[in-house]
Amino acid sequence: MSKFDFDSLRKELEEKGAAIKSLDEAQHIRNEFAGRKAMTAASGSISSIKEPAERKEYGKAFGAYKAFAVQFTDELLQQFERRAKQQSLDLTLPGSRFHSGSLHPLTQVQNEVIDVFRGMGFSVETGPEVESVFYNFDALNTPEWHPARDLSDTFYVDMKGEDRLNWVLRTETSPVQIRVMQTKKPPIRIIAPGRVYRSDKPDATHTPIFSQVEGLYVDEGVSFADLKGTVLAFYRAMFGSDIKTRFRPHFFPFTEPSAEVDMSCIFCGAKGCRVCKHSGWLEMGGSGMVDPKVLDVVGIDSEKYTGWAFGLGIERIAMLKFGVNDLRLFYENDVRFLSQF
Ligand SMILES: [Zn+2]
Repeated sequence: MSKFDFDSLRKELEEKGAAIKSLDEAQHIRNEFAGRKAMTAASGSISSIKEPAERKEYGKAFGAYKAFAVQFTDELLQQFERRAKQQSLDLTLPGSRFHSGSLHPLTQVQNEVIDVFRGMGFSVETGPEVESVFYNFDALNTPEWHPARDLSDTFYVDMKGEDRLNWVLRTETSPVQIRVMQTKKPPIRIIAPGRVYRSDKPDATHTPIFSQVEGLYVDEGVSFADLKGTVLAFYRAMFGSDIKTRFRPHFFPFTEPSAEVDMSCIFCGAKGCRVCKHSGWLEMGGSGMVDPKVLDVVGIDSEKYTGWAFGLGIERIAMLKFGVNDLRLFYENDVRFLSQF
């Protein structure tokens, strides 16, 4: 009887071969089943077989096993060598491009606005986006009948356990001004950038969420002339030194007198074009002298101090700066759009 049962050896090799997972294991299996030592051990006992027919049969079985074991382990090795090559770095391949992220265009513009006002001595203040009706309307001198208070214009927040609607998603960043005036003494010179919410149906010029920057300056002897000078300096820093501004009388509850700010059209040099509707001017935002009633509410002596405030839209500036004609693009966050900035 032969010392080796080649059939079960073959079976063992096939089973082990099917289970291996790495080139190292493939090399190990090759040594174990088809290496010189393994083959010497398998063929060694042939000399102890005396019967020639049996010896011949044993030799045939060994030869068949040897051929099988070499071929089987060779294929295993090749398979794992190929796999290892695919996984390693191929320096002849073209490089894959690395896509780095960038700041959202609205963030870029907001940062630029903040930089300009910081340069003029303003500090940055922020406040909550869920705001009380007191800070968002009452303290800002918004009359009870004012349409901004309507449920159809403002997102009210229904707080559990409260029987009336006391909270809103802030409709402007002005509540930040109230909070600052309550806690700080003049001179106050701040800007308040941030998101605000209004119940608008989205179209090319409206979105229910947008970003504002408001500025506030309160001190002794602060005049409308200071407001005009500061606003002009800001728009020149953003759009160029030949920019002009004009102030048109308007009404805002928070300020008295109030004015809308127009900037000379950057597309036609104030000559008149389609963008400025042939007027030469672009509407940019609101402004005015802080109503003395507002100063009284926050405990600042309105006999001694005066102040002004202005507001502007970040999206409005970004649309003009980047030539974007649909506000919604800033909020859809399509990477094909965003990657252009
Ligand atoms: Zn124009």
